[in-house]
Amino acid sequence: MTVHGITSPVLDALQSIVGKDGVLTDAAGMAGYLGDWSGDYRGAALAVLRPGSVAEVQALVRGCGSLGLGIIPQGGNTGLVAGAIDSNGSGTVIVSLERLNAIRLVDADNFILQADAGCVLQAIKDTAEEKDCLFPLALGAQGSCRIGGNAATNAGGVNVLRYGMARDLILGLEVVLADGELWNGFCGLRKNNSGYDLKQLFIGAEGTLGIITGVEVKLFPKPARVETAYIGVASFEAAIALFRQARRDCSDLVSAFEIIGAECIELARLVNSEMIAPVAAPVQVLIELSSSALVDLNAVLVGFLAGAMEKGLVGEAVLAASGAQAKSFWSIREGLVEGQAKRGYHVRTDLSVRISDIPALIERARRFVKAEHPGWTPLAYGHAGDGNIHFNVLPPLGLPDAEARARGSGITEGLYDITTCLGGSISAEHGIGRSRSREFWSGLSPVHRRLVSALKNALDPKGLMNPGCLLPSTETTP
Ligand SMILES: Cc1cc2nc3c(=O)[nH]c(=O)nc-3n(C[C@H](O)[C@H](O)[C@H](O)COP(=O)(O)OP(=O)(O)OC[C@H]3O[C@@H](n4cnc5c(N)ncnc54)[C@H](O)[C@@H]3O)c2cc1C
Repeated sequence: MTVHGITSPVLDALQSIVGKDGVLTDAAGMAGYLGDWSGDYRGAALAVLRPGSVAEVQALVRGCGSLGLGIIPQGGNTGLVAGAIDSNGSGTVIVSLERLNAIRLVDADNFILQADAGCVLQAIKDTAEEKDCLFPLALGAQGSCRIGGNAATNAGGVNVLRYGMARDLILGLEVVLADGELWNGFCGLRKNNSGYDLKQLFIGAEGTLGIITGVEVKLFPKPARVETAYIGVASFEAAIALFRQARRDCSDLVSAFEIIGAECIELARLVNSEMIAPVAAPVQVLIELSSSALVDLNAVLVGFLAGAMEKGLVGEAVLAASGAQAKSFWSIREGLVEGQAKRGYHVRTDLSVRISDIPALIERARRFVKAEHPGWTPLAYGHAGDGNIHFNVLPPLGLPDAEARARGSGITEGLYDITTCLGGSISAEHGIGRSRSREFWSGLSPVHRRLVSALKNALDPKGLMNPGCLLPSTETTP
């Protein structure tokens, strides 16, 4: 007998591990796990499994291994590249980490926090703050994404410039391997130069090598002062010149440097129709300085801006007079992503180039869209301090969805070509998932492919961990 595509013996086996409530097979129960945040991807699965302990994750992995079921680990399902869902899920189950959501330890003296992989990022940030500490990973999805997902995608966000990506913030991982064994790599050490750094294998592996069940992260002193300014400049060249100047004048006090093409502002208004950008320049810059020491940040920021104005780099600038005003500046930047999702299907990229190549990337990409896809609207914004640009393109209003998607994949390819010609990456921080696996794989050298396949085969010889994500599944066999 089959229940919703899953046979009774398989269902019985899974229920014997996580109980009846831990296995969802009905369409209504599974719906929330099978649609991604953007609405761009829809998945399928035989079942959604919700283990409540690390031991249950181990037993599930063993059980799925003997039943020959592929396993897709899932955190908050906010990834934008179809890593945690598979439209061809006929032989796979989703393992949601959401019930593993305890903070295990906060050690403010050693600036360490340990948490279950299913902890929501915001909860970790709040817990750190209660101890007068900062966990600096910061992204628009922080109220929904989970720390295991952040580790698995090597998440970035707005503070990478100062604190690095997830890879730089993780001290240790606990991972259930593809054979069900548990590797505990928590160590609490800042320095541990003894052999291979195994945690780095699982960070950014997007669930293809094992299921992360626990994460040990670095904390930092909570900034005592934060200064924010919203600045108008004439061009992307001027924005990058301003960034260079900021690094010189403000040194490592710069914690964020975001750029926004003025054409994006309309999108933020879809989220808040009353929003008015503080400046009206063609390119807008959001800069944040922060410090936990008693530095007069306001004087540093004012001095930097005065110098930049004298050099003609800055037209107008507004300094946030309060925390609430700083928040309103950030809501413009954060509203862009949500505004685009409201607009419906669009070409979404996450490109990185050398910082000095940002103006060339945007200029070439705009020229390409204008020449070959008239009527489509290009948008450029991103974490300029990391060379990371989201160059997105909106279809003309009213274009039927199927046609927009077909044209959109050609536009994406064109944008990837431009990025590759500049020596850049097609995935700065979102990962590869299923949506970019073909381009990722075809862009690798033979040696690189051999190394990736060797790792995959060594750690997941049956190819059960997140099949089809990152690597095309046929490449996982020797
Ligand atoms: C509004 C918005 C803004 C965003 N901004 C940013 C940004 O600034 N920077 C950035 O980097 N990303 C950003 N993202 C993308 C996304 O939030 C990140 O990739 C995030 O790290 C994904 O976490 P998640 O828990 O939602 O993972 P999921 O989407 O559930 O999964 C992502 C991948 O990780 C794997 N995975 C999840 N949990 C585990 C686990 N425990 N063990 C092993 N594998 C696992 C999944 O199989 C999948 O391959 C944004 C997304 C949205 C919606």
